[in-house]
Amino acid sequence: MAGLKWRRLVLKVGSALIAPEAKGCSTRYLLAIAGFISECRQQGVEVVLVSSGSVAAGRAAIPFAHQPLPINVKQAMAAVGQTRMMQSWRNLLDFDCAQILLTHDDLQHRSRYLNIHNTLRTLLDHGVLPIVNENDTVATAELKVGDNDNLAALVATVVDADALIICSDVDGLYTANPRSDSTATLIPEVHQITPDIHAMAGGSHHAIGTGGMTTKLQAASKATSQGIDTLIINGQKADSFAQLLAGKACGTLFHKQQERLSAKKHWLLHSLKTRGELQLDSGAVQALLHKGASLLPKGISSINGDFDKGDAIWLCDAAGKQLAKGISQYSKSELSKIRGVHSQQIESILGYCPSEVVVHRDDLALVEG
Ligand code: GLU
Repeated sequence: MAGLKWRRLVLKVGSALIAPEAKGCSTRYLLAIAGFISECRQQGVEVVLVSSGSVAAGRAAIPFAHQPLPINVKQAMAAVGQTRMMQSWRNLLDFDCAQILLTHDDLQHRSRYLNIHNTLRTLLDHGVLPIVNENDTVATAELKVGDNDNLAALVATVVDADALIICSDVDGLYTANPRSDSTATLIPEVHQITPDIHAMAGGSHHAIGTGGMTTKLQAASKATSQGIDTLIINGQKADSFAQLLAGKACGTLFHKQQERLSAKKHWLLHSLKTRGELQLDSGAVQALLHKGASLLPKGISSINGDFDKGDAIWLCDAAGKQLAKGISQYSKSELSKIRGVHSQQIESILGYCPSEVVVHRDDLALVEG
């Protein structure tokens, strides 16, 4: 069996699969999906699950006769349903799961983004399955990502996934709506998401979830531009998962537009504005350039600029040459206190230690090489 070619994937499961009758959670489709997640882990593939279904799962607890549901009613349903949805996953999986609830605002805010990134990285390092949903209780229109397809694409970028798999209730992207047009055919591969491709996706056709093909294409467009292969598959068919696990083509594959590493490097070096600069001692320079190491407080000789946790900074040698750009785990004022010390001393100096490194290797790009 060829097996999966990806090392870390984000799997998005919508409300229509979790609560197919809109009457609370059902295991009908989740059983096969849980089996797929377990098998991925067996193959050494890390998985992050983005699961909708909180509103659908909590609907019965808050009786409300009129449509459309007011936002406060939906939020109340989500608050009830979120625990139910988590419980259904827990019942089907025999490893630890973690609940992560996010808003658009969290992903925009630099230090909160970094906290999310650190937490997800730590969970994956410890073999825990993160289960992400939008924080519906606090997120009204202006704070919302709005749909979990786009949320899943953002999460895939945050966790540096190499694939995003969106489970749908159709087999993939069709040339027309397969429910109303019998001549519609499945498109197995998309190399570029052109206006013609967008035209093939109608609006949402499902009463339960938020997204339709349109939001799935938006998600595919976001993810592929960041170097992440994106698949739309039929999550109602257990066979879709068997095909994927056997390394066979399934659904519609949207090819990544570039390598993930170069997309990330480009983002770090050319899109992020730097707010400061650290001068490193020769040991730290060697470790950075030749050992693939993260930057520790010990190796910092001086600090310039004014930056916050989550800001980008330049890492320079003693002569001031810019060697790398990275995201700082600490603000300038915190770094001024821990510069030159061993990581074990951070806690006693600051009173807390959110990170043993100042810039994690995954969050930095070398200018050359
Ligand atoms: N966050 C919503 C929920 O869990 C669903 C959003 C979506 O399905 O796109 O019910």
